Amino acid sequence: MDGSSGTALRAQQTEMMTRLRKTFLSGKTKPLAWRKEQLRSLGSAVAANEAKIVEALRSDLGKPIEEALLAEVDYLTKECALAEKKCAAWSKPRKVGTPLPNMPARSMRVPEPLGVALIIGAWNYPLQEVFGPLAGAIAAGNCAVLKPSELAPAASDLLAEITKSALDNEAFDSVLGGVAETSALLEQKFDKIFYTGGAAVGRIVMSAAAQHLTPVTLELGGKSPAIVAADANLDVTARRLIWGAFMNGGQLCVRPDYCMVEESVYEPFLAKLQEVASSFYGEDMQQSPHFARIVNDRHFERVARLVDSGEVVVGGQMDRADKFIAPTILRDVIPDAPAMQEEIFGPVLPTFPVKSLDDAVHFINERDKPLAMYVFTNSESTGDKFIAETSAGTLMVNDCVVFQTNHHLPFGGVGESGMGGFHGRYTFDAFSHLKSVMKRPFWGDVSLRYPPYTEKGRELLRKIMM
Ligand code: NAD
Repeated sequence: MDGSSGTALRAQQTEMMTRLRKTFLSGKTKPLAWRKEQLRSLGSAVAANEAKIVEALRSDLGKPIEEALLAEVDYLTKECALAEKKCAAWSKPRKVGTPLPNMPARSMRVPEPLGVALIIGAWNYPLQEVFGPLAGAIAAGNCAVLKPSELAPAASDLLAEITKSALDNEAFDSVLGGVAETSALLEQKFDKIFYTGGAAVGRIVMSAAAQHLTPVTLELGGKSPAIVAADANLDVTARRLIWGAFMNGGQLCVRPDYCMVEESVYEPFLAKLQEVASSFYGEDMQQSPHFARIVNDRHFERVARLVDSGEVVVGGQMDRADKFIAPTILRDVIPDAPAMQEEIFGPVLPTFPVKSLDDAVHFINERDKPLAMYVFTNSESTGDKFIAETSAGTLMVNDCVVFQTNHHLPFGGVGESGMGGFHGRYTFDAFSHLKSVMKRPFWGDVSLRYPPYTEKGRELLRKIMM
């Protein structure tokens, strides 16, 4: 971007920030009635635009209609309805205890909105990743700037349209564009940045936030492992694993990225995976209406290169013009293979046998902490072993991905896979400051605490304070 267009962009964004900050400071976003009305309007607009949303996601990602309806339209309408129903309860002061030395007093944590938030989304679930956090930001009483991903242009345009028509434009605005627009935005002072995307840009976002001491939530990705123990139900495991690994064309942050199988069941499990893949997608997978496409040529080339990382036992076919890479399963993939060096974020699933569950634990602990981990086993103690001995944003036993629909479980990473959690009340909290408040009466004023201090008084005070 040349100097003059950069200056114009900054001026435009500064004007937007001034407008949003003025609205926040006016107190307009604080009344619960206003928050509820905005949430109702956003939820209704998403529902009313269902057909347009399905079409935009088909155009950007070839997303199957069922996946668009469940993971974007229904997810968002439910998230808005929940936030509308619960925001009054979430906003109430949360009582905490008061130790004896502080008595008489009442102590509580009072949620207050942070101010003007920036929500940056990725392209794989382009509406969910921006409007989802927004529901919590609205419920908590914030203003917000929305920055959807330029890699999903049809969905981003629709998001801007819905923002304009359904929300209070004095409090919410969207910015379209790519690196230049986002970089300029990051120079502005926000009160919260909620970022979804890869770790490399996560670092850029966090460095920019540091300039203003802005708190961040980083929803990143990484290599989420699946472990299949010898005592697992192989039929159900194969179905659940293939469904999770190839949903949205494998472009899902919590997809099982690779699969370790106890060696005694490795061959029978591979046979099950082959059976299940052909029952899901048919013999000619490219004709299946139940399988998405790669988002763009750059990602197509990146994922296509990873297919050579092992022997293909399922899929392997590709068609550049259609951005199609078949659901592909590789066997005996070694740790040094390209598919094991980066998050795949596409329809390739490397598998390999492990001699023992301890070896699997060791393999996981030698690498970055994953966003999700999936353990398939019939034994409670095997699940508990991975819960106790490994670290991940979320650990799920005997299934994958579906934990995301439980709004009681905050979703987020740890270490390289991110920081902070969200969904339901946890999104509300991510956009709130829980102000510590202590209220005391005037009675019970102990004179010991005031000068002139005495030795006897000091001893008594130390006893009381302990
Ligand atoms: P992306 O390329 O769409 O980038 C994300 C956002 O960052 C976009 O809005 C983009 O405009 C902006 N951006 C890109 N480059 C930038 C730069 N140099 N400076 C400032 N802003 C910039 O998305 P991506 O990174 O390809 O997303 C894929 C990653 O996101 C994967 O690692 C995936 O696991 C992760 N992800 C995580 C979650 C989660 O909830 N944890 C959800 C979806 C995706």
